[in-house]
Amino acid sequence: MAPRSLRSLLRGDRAPRTPYGATAPRPRAADGELLLSAEALTKSYAGADGELPVLSGIDLQVRAGEIVALLGKSGSGKSTLLRCLAGLLPPSSGTLTYRGETLTGANPGTAMVFQTFALLPWLTVQQNVELGLEARGVSAAVRAEAAVRAIDLIGLDGFESAYPKELSGGMRQRVGFARALVVEPDVLMMDEPFSALDVLTAENLRGELMELWESGQFPTRAIVLVTHNIEEAVLMADRIVVLGSRPYGTIRESFEVGLDRPRDRHSAAFEELIDRVYRTMTGRARETRLPGRPEGVEADRRTAANTPLPTASVDGLSGLAEMVLHQGGRCDLADLADDLVLEIDDILPIVDALDLLGFAKISGDDLVLTERGTAFAGADVQESKTIFAAAVLGAPLVTLITTSLRQSPEGTLRAGFFRDVLAHHFTSEQVTRQLEVATDWGRYAELYAYDAEPEEYRLDEGDAPGDAPPPREA
Ligand code: ADP
Ligand code: MG
Repeated sequence: MAPRSLRSLLRGDRAPRTPYGATAPRPRAADGELLLSAEALTKSYAGADGELPVLSGIDLQVRAGEIVALLGKSGSGKSTLLRCLAGLLPPSSGTLTYRGETLTGANPGTAMVFQTFALLPWLTVQQNVELGLEARGVSAAVRAEAAVRAIDLIGLDGFESAYPKELSGGMRQRVGFARALVVEPDVLMMDEPFSALDVLTAENLRGELMELWESGQFPTRAIVLVTHNIEEAVLMADRIVVLGSRPYGTIRESFEVGLDRPRDRHSAAFEELIDRVYRTMTGRARETRLPGRPEGVEADRRTAANTPLPTASVDGLSGLAEMVLHQGGRCDLADLADDLVLEIDDILPIVDALDLLGFAKISGDDLVLTERGTAFAGADVQESKTIFAAAVLGAPLVTLITTSLRQSPEGTLRAGFFRDVLAHHFTSEQVTRQLEVATDWGRYAELYAYDAEPEEYRLDEGDAPGDAPPPREA
């Protein structure tokens, strides 16, 4: 039988067919038909001090026609559960079935897309895509044809003979998708497939995958997506299963998404679901307003009175910006706090400072670096001072001090002057803290200096990043 194209396999195709490498024909499952099932599943890993329980009492069903997101913080057992469902890891107890049959080894109905792409660097795109079929004993000619079709489907046309190192992250992950889709899995498994990509590439690839899924251009009947990103789960899934990690992985709650597609991130229903999922994941309400700065003050209307400086040192905010850059320019705030063994509240002043300076934005639960923030985080000391000096003028108190000093005949002003100005709006403790921050920021930007004795600010007149170039005489 001549192999049919992926597209023709789908167009109205309800006939039984033999997936590559499977032994029995697999009828196309009707919507709602049970594909994967885990009952009372537990999983422990052997550790130095005995068994380490990771999953406990997991009951999960995946049905044809649905996208299920497994959502949880890092370490909650998402990847472990996905590998069990794919038959790549044996459960410690409980039952696992695929289309009603107990799994005894690799699940014949699944294929996996990994966060790290997992491509073999010495093989071309085409050879990487063919790998999955090779393992299933498909002949070379059939393999080649199927691979070309999968490559075409996923937008890699023309890259067949390229090597992974020649490709961008986004194109590499396309190879990851093609390699999974080429085996025509009944259930596509994806383990954080977008988290290693930059924000725009991830968004683009997510969109394309959803279009393919909606148009039914591949025979896959269900998707299981592992993610730690709430917004991604709400954007893509029909059902969100939240895993909790304390004391070990259990299903905390399931959410039916039920929003129309394509989904509007700005709709009230979208936001409301994000809030509910957030509460389940973190056990508390989502901060929609960052403390310390009234919401809704646009950049050009901010004053020292309506926009107090958050308590964050230059070291603190550049450290956090570098961490986010290291994670690809975007990361989940709760995870970031976890990594630092802090509470979200502890890092919010720094987050607020990054926002105020235009270095980062909050998007859903994620902190996302802006272009300016990316440049700042990646710069050497001199460059970072220059970038900071331009950004810090977005901080009203710093601007107030700088312009006041420029207008004062000596170029100096006592700290008491600013204390008096601020005293109308803040407690003396708040004033002290804000002046400390303004001192730190203005010094780093080389806008002004501060002498603790006699508590005096002085314009920094060196050849500094923050200085306007001196007017030249002709
Ligand atoms: P997630 O994907 O949600 O981040 P994982 O399933 O990777 O979580 O890991 C869950 C827990 O199991 C973590 O504490 C992790 O350290 C542990 N773990 C994962 N894989 C192994 C392994 N092969 N051996 C021992 N412990 C493991
Ligand atoms: Mg994982």
